[in-house]
Amino acid sequence: MPRLLLVEDEAPVREMLKFALADEDFEILEAADAGEGFTLMRGQRPDLILLDWMLPGMSGVEFARRLRKDAANRDIPIIMLTARAEEDDKVKGLREADDYITKPFSTRELKARIQAVLRRSGPGGQQELIRIGALCLDPVGHKVTVQGEPLDIGPTEFRLLHFFMAHPERVYTREQLLNNVWGQNVYVEERTVDVHIRRLRKALADSGHDRHVQTVRTVGYRFSTQV
Ligand code: CA
Repeated sequence: MPRLLLVEDEAPVREMLKFALADEDFEILEAADAGEGFTLMRGQRPDLILLDWMLPGMSGVEFARRLRKDAANRDIPIIMLTARAEEDDKVKGLREADDYITKPFSTRELKARIQAVLRRSGPGGQQELIRIGALCLDPVGHKVTVQGEPLDIGPTEFRLLHFFMAHPERVYTREQLLNNVWGQNVYVEERTVDVHIRRLRKALADSGHDRHVQTVRTVGYRFSTQV
C-alpha cells in the first residue's frame, strides 16, 4: 500500500485531502508543519509527499530543498499544493517538486496527479527492488527478504541497509552515514551508528549476509557485494 505524507498546516485542507483519497488504498501520514513532516518520515519513508507551499516556519519549498539534499530521501516524489495567488511562483517550486496542483482542485484531478507521479517513480524508477545475491530489498513495501523469506528488521536498520545496497563498494564515515540515513538536522551521537550496524549484522547473520557489512578500520563502514 503506498504511503502518503501530507504536510499541510490547515486542518480542514488535510481533512478534505483524506476524504478525497478515502477510497484509494493509501496509508496517510499527516503533518501540520515541516518539522513534524521530517519527524514522521524518520521511521516510515513515504512513497509520495503532498506538500503545501505556504507553511508556518519552514516553507514547503525549503522542506523540499532539504529533502533533496538528503540521500536517503531525495528520491521521494513531491506534489506541491499551491494557492491560486502563488501561481507566479510555480516554476520556482517545480524545480524541487515533481508536480504541483493548484487549490481548489477536484478529487479527480488530485487522484490523477498522484497516480501519475507514483507511476513515474514506480517500476523503472528509484523504487525498484534492489537485489544482491539472495538478499532482496523492496523500497516501496519496506521489506527485506532472503530467498523470498521475510527478514525481521527494524526501521533504522532498513534505512541503513537501503542506503548501503543503493551505494555498494564505497566507504562511509559514521558522520556520512548519520547525514544520509538519519538526516542532516538530527543530532545523534556517532556511536549510534555502531549500535545499528550491530543490529543490522545480527538481522543478516542467519543467512550469512552480514559479511557484506564491512568495518573499515579508522574510517567507517562499507557494504561490499564482492564477498
Ligand atoms: Ca498553508
